[in-house]
Amino acid sequence: MTTSHVIIGDGIAGSSAAETIREADPDADVTVLTDEGEALYNRILIKEFAKGKLPEAPISIHDEDWYAERDIDLDLNTYVTAVDTDAHEVHTHESGVYEYDKLLVATGGTPTQLPVENSDAEGIHHFWTFEDARDIQEHADAAETGIIVGAGLLGIDLAAICAAQDVEGKYLMRGDCWWRYALSEEGAEIIHDALRERDVEPVFQSGVDRFEVDDDGVVTGATDPNGDFYEGDFVGVAIGLDFNTEFLRGSGIELDDGIVTDEHMRTNAEDVYAAGDITQFEDLILGERAQNGAWGSAKEQGSIAGQNMVADEPAEEFRWVSSYSITHFDFPFLSFGHPTLGDDFVERKYSETEWRRVALRNGRVVGGVLIGDLAPQSKLKQLARERRDISGQEDVLLAETIDLDDLDAAPAEAE
Ligand SMILES: Cc1cc2nc3c(=O)[nH]c(=O)nc-3n(C[C@H](O)[C@H](O)[C@H](O)COP(=O)(O)OP(=O)(O)OC[C@H]3O[C@@H](n4cnc5c(N)ncnc54)[C@H](O)[C@@H]3O)c2cc1C
Repeated sequence: MTTSHVIIGDGIAGSSAAETIREADPDADVTVLTDEGEALYNRILIKEFAKGKLPEAPISIHDEDWYAERDIDLDLNTYVTAVDTDAHEVHTHESGVYEYDKLLVATGGTPTQLPVENSDAEGIHHFWTFEDARDIQEHADAAETGIIVGAGLLGIDLAAICAAQDVEGKYLMRGDCWWRYALSEEGAEIIHDALRERDVEPVFQSGVDRFEVDDDGVVTGATDPNGDFYEGDFVGVAIGLDFNTEFLRGSGIELDDGIVTDEHMRTNAEDVYAAGDITQFEDLILGERAQNGAWGSAKEQGSIAGQNMVADEPAEEFRWVSSYSITHFDFPFLSFGHPTLGDDFVERKYSETEWRRVALRNGRVVGGVLIGDLAPQSKLKQLARERRDISGQEDVLLAETIDLDDLDAAPAEAE
């Protein structure tokens, strides 16, 4: 009997699941539904397009033929409104009902709006889709002054877009440094200097109280909680994601700021899996539930989900230390694992553009941030994967070249 697999979302998680299912089961029916109007593209690269540095073509990963050649039905512009887990049905806005034997939800998130006055004014951008990138590219090209809000990994993309498009930027941050949950002020200062060199000024202990608009409702600037006004005809906001679970209300699928899964990417509902940014998955390395927001992790989860969807019994486990790199500056930057989840941190500055911080929990590496020299990443990730207890030997993690032989030969926990 032919199995019918329905996948909601054609991001990297959904697409990688579709490919995995097709490879494992040539006879299966595979349908991918997406509310976007284009097939899978490289979300990581849309910032380079918005900077004006890359044309559209290399950003696309699959065209529609790719799906047709693999006998995968791709339904674009198809918005899922509900899932009936008893009837095994997916309901859509206009395209009717799809029946499934196995369902994958890989719907990611949507940028959160700032809950302040005029936050929906014209000229204020959020950044998630290729369509957003097209708007941002066009507007930043014409703008002279910019405001960026959101001191994290997506906010810095918007700051870098201002820099590349010669927009004089003010980067309004609530604390005393960029990504204060993962970096110390000393490490973040390397980033601040790089921004200043590019005419983007970090403004600390700031934020947005309200946006100001002209008579046509177009943004002209922002007033921060201190009452200071900053001019900006371009505004970029990146303060986090709302996970796309609205259509799952009442479905019985367990939700908790995302979709709860086990390590096999299985939800609590029979025959329903989830993958990618949207999952609150059982993290075997951390030893508790966690959520990732990274391309490689979403791809791996899609592949694990796909393998388990075609298997009689789910056997494949997601066991992964994710990483996220930034290439906006003259030095490389990489964060790995869960850099904000440590109960202890060790760090060291090696030069004006080289810095390292490792987050530990119960004596084990759980994540970190590397600036300038990314070479230690493989050994640090190995230690995280092995859940090796390195209590009292943290200095080994900060050696210019990490030598794992310098650690006591404590047995690693099972991989
Ligand atoms: C500008 C930018 C830069 C980034 N840079 C990096 C980077 O350098 N490194 C890194 O590791 N990660 C980066 N990321 C994050 C990375 O892109 C994500 O972690 C990854 O794309 C998540 O993939 P996903 O498949 O889980 O979700 P998504 O890519 O968000 O895909 C979900 C899809 O589901 C669709 N959908 C949602 N709801 C519905 C519905 N009801 N019906 C139908 N379809 C629906 C959405 O439209 C979307 O197409 C970046 C993200 C952005 C936006």
